[in-house]
Order: sequence, then C-alpha cells, then structure tokens
Amino acid sequence: MHQPETGSPSCQDEKDPGALSYAAAQEIIRRQSPPLPASETLPLRSALRRVLAQAVIAPVNVPAHRNSAMDGYALAGRELAGQGEPVLRVIGTAWAGKPFAGAVGAGECVRIMTGAKIPEGADSVVIQERAQVLDETLVRILPGNSPGQNIRAAGEDIREGQTVLEPGRRIGPAQIGLLASLGIAELRVKRRVRVAFFSTGDELCSLGQPLAEGQIYDSNRHTLYGMLAEQGTEILDLGVIPDDRGAITQVLREGAAAADVVISTGGASVGEADYIAEASAQLGEILFSSVALKPGRPLTFGRIADALFFALPGNPVAVMVTFYQFVRPALRLLGGEADSFTPRFPLVCGSRLRKAANRTEVQRGVLKPDPSGELRVYSTGHQGSGVLSSMSEGDCFIILDESDGPVDSGDLVAVQPFELLR
Ligand code: AMP
Ligand code: MG
Repeated sequence: MHQPETGSPSCQDEKDPGALSYAAAQEIIRRQSPPLPASETLPLRSALRRVLAQAVIAPVNVPAHRNSAMDGYALAGRELAGQGEPVLRVIGTAWAGKPFAGAVGAGECVRIMTGAKIPEGADSVVIQERAQVLDETLVRILPGNSPGQNIRAAGEDIREGQTVLEPGRRIGPAQIGLLASLGIAELRVKRRVRVAFFSTGDELCSLGQPLAEGQIYDSNRHTLYGMLAEQGTEILDLGVIPDDRGAITQVLREGAAAADVVISTGGASVGEADYIAEASAQLGEILFSSVALKPGRPLTFGRIADALFFALPGNPVAVMVTFYQFVRPALRLLGGEADSFTPRFPLVCGSRLRKAANRTEVQRGVLKPDPSGELRVYSTGHQGSGVLSSMSEGDCFIILDESDGPVDSGDLVAVQPFELLR
C-alpha cells in the first residue's frame, strides 16, 4: 500500500512527486468500500432512491391473464380463416375488470375493451374499425384480419417466478411501478450510508453572522449538504471547527463513532497548522494524502475506527471535484450498489484547454450546440479552484487524463454531465 506522505501538500496545485495517480487513488478507495451489511424493510414508496437488499422474484404473471390489446370483438381465429366477411352474433361484453362469464362458440363473438380478459373459446380480437355493426346483436367482420391478433399473453411483461430485480439495484419510479404491478407493497433495502462532515478554518463565518474583517462565509458545508442529500445519505452536520488540534481530534472521534464516512474540508495548506493530517493519523490510518489531480491535489483518505475518512481540500471547487470523483464512488459501493458508476463519454470540445503534464485535470464545461446544431462542450473559462461560479455556470466535468496534453478546439475530450453524478 502507498506510504503516507509526511507533511502536508499545499493547496496550490504545483507538482508533488509523491502524489498518487487519479486511478490508483480511486482503486484504493474502491478496495476500502465493501457494501455495508445492514438493511431494513420499507413500504414501497419509501423505498424510492434506496438500494435493494434482496432479489425480487415475481409472485404472479404480469399481465395476470390473457387480455385484449384493443377495443373490438373477441372471437375464435377459425372465424377468420375463410375468404368471405363472416357475420357473427354478439353474445355479450367483456370489460377491463369485468370479464364475460360465458364461452364464445362458432358464429359468435364478444364485444371487448382494452385490458379485458379474453373469454373462453376466443383467441383473437378484431378491432372495432374492422367490424361493421349491423344491429344490436350482429356484426360483419371486414377483411384484413388474422388469427391470434391483438392479444396480450399472460406473463408477457413478467413471468411468475422470474427474477425481476437483482440486489444492488437503485429503486427509481419505473421500479416502483414494476413492483406495484406485481402486488409488492414492501421490500428490503440497504440502510442509508451515514455521513458526518465538518469544515475547518478560523476564517470561516456561519450564515446569519456579519463578516468580520478577514472572514469568509463557510460555503463548503452547504455544498456538501447538497451533494450528500442528492446521493441519498443520512447527514450529520458537525459544524465549523476552529483550527485547533484538540477540537479537531474530538470532532474526528465523534464523527467516526456516529457515521460510516467522515468528511472534513479545509486545513490542507502548508503553513496552516496541520491538524487534520496529524489528528487523523493519530486516531486511525492514512492511506494516501496527495493525488496528481487539479484541483484537489491535497486529497487525503484513510480510516478512523470503522469509518472511512476523506479530508477534502478547502477550496470550494476542489471540494466538489474530489467529492464527485472520489467520495461518491465510495458512497455508492458502501450503500450496496452493484457498481460505482462514474460515467464519462467522448465529446468534441469547442474550446482550447490548457493542460499540464502528469496529472489528471478536472475542468468545468458547458454542454451546448455549436452553430450547426451538434452538441459540443465548451470551457466555462477561468478554472481557479476557488472559483465556485465555474461549477454553477458549468453543467459537466471535462476529464483530462494524466497522459493527455493540451486540447485544441475540435479535439475529443471525456465529459461527465453533473446530472449523471447525482
Ligand atoms: P485550506 O485548505 O484550509 O488552506 O483552505 C484553502 C482555501 O479554501 C482557503 O482560501 C480557505 O479560505 C478556503 N476555504 C476553506 N474552507 C472553506 C469553506 N468551508 N468555505 C469556503 N471556503 C473555504
Ligand atoms: Mg484552512
């Protein structure tokens, strides 16, 4: 395993020969993030956005019975075999939810509505536009029909006994509907991942307080709240902690006892007292403390007691970048999802991008059509790690890998829409 760095890298993005590659850092995190075992049983709607802890086996066929795909007339297919236009006796009506009780014999048919059970003796439905009503009880079947048409087979959507959902699936609206169609009213889901977080910095001022000279508002805790809420975790906000070794040791201990994951922001700069690194190394184990990444180089990862610990840099953009690239995959895996799903796809870049060698850069982009209507990605402009407006104006990351050089307009780049990282 990678040896912990001594000392702390600065929040500037200059090179650090001891920095781990982006891929190696992700791999270490992946190996430290086995699925948490705990689960709970919830009513169907409460399971929205939760992760399945069980396989779902269909207890019934969907649809439960053979039914009509159209409004029309149910009859036996042999009535359609001849060349002529048979005239049939209408012996009743089949409604969705109110089946026709009798059987359809030779020379007979039943008026049928969409979704209604196909009556005994029938195996085809002629749509009403292909039938001519002669009187109350007689219809003429017009040409152009074939036996077996307009029938939905029982179990056509889902077959009884079939595995419909595997454990590790996140439940969305389609899954809620699918489970409801099977009559399933409750299910076992993974317990939510518990995340505790705090900001550090003597310069930080909380909302509602006037800014004293040299202070800034603490934005990171609010950004983190938003990102965690979107991931569906349980959230424990431990507040702003001063740059004080005792206070930081105490909050780390408290966080690790209460949560599965502890996240801090700030306290990563050289020159500033290095309490986060010291306190976490003393309470637990640091697995790496520098990644060849811009922004986010001083990202520190380790364990404190049974919790994973992420020390994110203080710069607001670095917080978001390191959260989505490193914390989110861990949250998904701990939460029992089958994979960490960090999608990226190639897209033509409409801007020139500067890129330094030997590090991964996560720049901010905007997706929009070029003058000919083709979707392109453009730089948001200024890429400073304190420029949070670049995240607000942007709608995607542009990932430039370690081996990538500068980008010319017209080159392909890897893009990650923020929408897909929720
Ligand atoms: P640090 O890692 O503590 O040296 O912080 C790096 C930069 O991020 C400094 O400019 C800090 O003022 C800023 N910063 C740190 N924490 C926060 C926070 N919670 N909200 C906004 N900015 C922060
Ligand atoms: Mg600080």
